[in-house]
Amino acid sequence: MRFRRLRASAALVFALAATRIAGTEPELVRTVVVSDELKVGISRGDLVFLFAKPLPGEGINAFVRRFTDDLQTKERVLRVNQLSDVLKAGSFLRVPYELLSGNYKRIAFEALFPDDRAEKGAWIHKVAGISGEPESLWTIAEWLTGDGGRYRDIRQFNKLASLLTERGQEIRVPVTLLLPAFRSAVAALETEEPSPLTFGHDEKGAFASYRLKKGEALYSAVVIRFTGLLHAADVNAEAQKIAGRSGISDVRSIPAGFEVRITPADLLPEYRPADDPERRQYERSLLESAQFVSRIRAENLRGVTVVLDPGHGGRDTGAVVGGVAEAAYCYDLALRIRATLEARSQAKVILTVSDADLRLPASRDVLDFTSGASVMTHPPYPIVDSSAGVHLRWYLANAIFAMAEKKNRDDPRVIFLSIHADSLHPSVRGAMLYIPGEKYLRESFSKSGDIYQARLEYRQAPRVRFSRRERLASEGTSRQLAESMVEELRRADLPVHPFHPIRENVVRSGREWVPAVLRYNRIPARVLLEVCNLNNDEDRALLQTSRYRDRVAAAVVASLAEFCGDSDPARRAVRKR
Ligand SMILES: [Zn+2]
Repeated sequence: MRFRRLRASAALVFALAATRIAGTEPELVRTVVVSDELKVGISRGDLVFLFAKPLPGEGINAFVRRFTDDLQTKERVLRVNQLSDVLKAGSFLRVPYELLSGNYKRIAFEALFPDDRAEKGAWIHKVAGISGEPESLWTIAEWLTGDGGRYRDIRQFNKLASLLTERGQEIRVPVTLLLPAFRSAVAALETEEPSPLTFGHDEKGAFASYRLKKGEALYSAVVIRFTGLLHAADVNAEAQKIAGRSGISDVRSIPAGFEVRITPADLLPEYRPADDPERRQYERSLLESAQFVSRIRAENLRGVTVVLDPGHGGRDTGAVVGGVAEAAYCYDLALRIRATLEARSQAKVILTVSDADLRLPASRDVLDFTSGASVMTHPPYPIVDSSAGVHLRWYLANAIFAMAEKKNRDDPRVIFLSIHADSLHPSVRGAMLYIPGEKYLRESFSKSGDIYQARLEYRQAPRVRFSRRERLASEGTSRQLAESMVEELRRADLPVHPFHPIRENVVRSGREWVPAVLRYNRIPARVLLEVCNLNNDEDRALLQTSRYRDRVAAAVVASLAEFCGDSDPARRAVRKR
């Protein structure tokens, strides 16, 4: 039996290639759901198809461009789906693997073969045989390099005596042969630092281990870095848990070189082993949200509306630490950012909150409490209830966005920036940004009650709705905006959280969420800047200097220009200041 299969193998691979050209539509033997709008199927004979739902109002050209990047494939897509040229929203269309753009090839491939991985110098394909027979070298070459004929190179590279593959066998496809989308996965690995963690098993189960370096403390070097926890109670509890697991009696005096053991389930996804399902899901979500990034292109921010949202205000002071009230400093920062934007760009600036007592940034370093703030809805809402204060901000933001959409449906050009100061474990330092993580957003949401009903912005659109594509687009777009901000803050030598300055969600007391002002906001480019940590003595002292607040404002303005692709030399001068 084995001998017969061996002899037949070469003929078999070519026969399969021929079926593919004929474009038949064989029955699927396995389908993997990627999302509500995406599925991947594989048939006997290893033909792979992506199934995608057209978006409401999406025409065939837009659909084809989205999934194949090449309008010339339109005829084939229509033929495969037996369509003339009208799309039915809501029903899945089939796109053959070989027509897909690089990114969608990778999404489809990784969905079907979750055991595949990138390694130094190669993509490792684990033969799965999901369609009945182990996939041939020819098929593997076609999927990963775009050319089945490359099976010879792959065979040579793996020093394979036989052309036959077996389930579970690992086939290495060298980086030089890979399609760009797979090559970039290997390249990303090479620029990445090697993991500082090693993994093992003891009588208590699996663990990740880390050896403390000289001068490193358990809180910052281990808990905050690897588990992503930030709030004091969470950080302390995890430190105790790790201490127990590692046989540490006093967490404040651990010798350098000591091996600390962490439960793998407590690690951030990116620190988990390469084959961990949560890590793979996290990587897939990054890839998926990057598909829909819509950047604003505007020289000198012309035509761009920047919505600045100073956190808290009125009766809502925000965090108060050592007499420093978050609200007063957020408002001052917003005024500085507005002044810089108005002096140096053509952006239109709108503040969500206005405090009649304060019109210009204070020349003083230390600021007093203020209580005059109102959310600038129609009519304004003098902030009494902090929750209503928050919800009315996103209603206002959505009204501003709707207006921009009315003017320019394809390119509304609005950026939303909420400004806060955090109160975290005292060892955490520097700025951090929250973005709307796709999986924490809902399909629709609405508030009710008199406070809302009385306001125009609410009555215009009481319920907000998001499609999955919009949720993905906002995560991807907001991440780019946040990356620009981190870059400019670092360039200006301002303190930035060293490990994970950009986060898709807040984690606290075992719960995870996106702040409401981002969660229900329709502006695709939206971030919440935690400018510093009030519980950190150095951060708190810095916030109480007008020079620091000016430098933050300059860096934020530079980052908005950078996000909008501005190459104006005047902008660069702002950056260097
Ligand atoms: Zn706050």
